Amino acid sequence: MSDCIFCKIINREIPSEVVYEDERVLAFKDINPVAPVHVLIIPKKHSESLNDLNPEDEALVGHLVIVATQLAEELGIADSGYRLVNNCGDDGGQVVKHLHFHLIGGKRLGIHIC
Ligand code: 5GP
Ligand code: ZN
Repeated sequence: MSDCIFCKIINREIPSEVVYEDERVLAFKDINPVAPVHVLIIPKKHSESLNDLNPEDEALVGHLVIVATQLAEELGIADSGYRLVNNCGDDGGQVVKHLHFHLIGGKRLGIHIC
């Protein structure tokens, strides 16, 4: 997707602070962090949102979650706790239309989910 910000980050057309990369996934620091740890975990394959996923993406989604748990450990928030968030669509608050999970932690987060 030539006009997608996160595809440009994957292709290094836009700089970011990468914290993890493999053949399927990229993780980088959110440019506007809401907590001491705020990392975005994205598939390299462009999908607009969770709504775009198919049954054949099951392993990819599992991999994204496992990477998130490994990053939580590495970034020192596994024991203290964290939130793994996906915003889907306009009502879900999704701004960037490339599927991503937010890994947020390093402070006591608010209890509100809406
Ligand atoms: P959404 O609201 O779509 O779930 O979250 C998009 C996230 O992407 C926001 O937290 C925002 O700060 C982050 N973001 C938007 N543009 C950039 C960028 O160019 N670089 C980085 N590192 N993060 C970005
Ligand atoms: Zn994209």
